[in-house]
Amino acid sequence: MQEPHMDQEARLLAAVKAAQTKAYAPYSNFPVGAAIIADNGEVYSGCNVENASYPEGTCAEAGAIAAMVMAGGRKIQKIYVIGNGEGLVSPCGGCRQRIREFAHADTTVHICGPEGVRAVMKLHDLLPHSFGPEQLHTHSAQE
Ligand SMILES: [Zn+2]
Repeated sequence: MQEPHMDQEARLLAAVKAAQTKAYAPYSNFPVGAAIIADNGEVYSGCNVENASYPEGTCAEAGAIAAMVMAGGRKIQKIYVIGNGEGLVSPCGGCRQRIREFAHADTTVHICGPEGVRAVMKLHDLLPHSFGPEQLHTHSAQE
């Protein structure tokens, strides 16, 4: 029997690769997939969706986060991101902030290529001294 950890990694690699195949990237020809495992144990995925009006395109991470939120998930345990090529396809600055919104102290980012996981980082290391919901809640009358 495999360790649960290995089962989860295989599950997330399969999900992120499947998401990448759905990418709509006719302009960059750079398909990206993202897959989240939330604290509820569910997996949510997304792909990049480009647009003829280039700035309107969205990143794979944004799609995965939207799917998670839509289904009721609120905390990202791990997020896998996959792209082709030699380099590390790490989340862009905007997506680091998007992930941050739903991250906790131990949230990890797993950067993948076609052969598998290339690097694992804590979100905290990708976005140190970040701004998050806590800062607003300090001054919010609503929560
Ligand atoms: Zn991004």
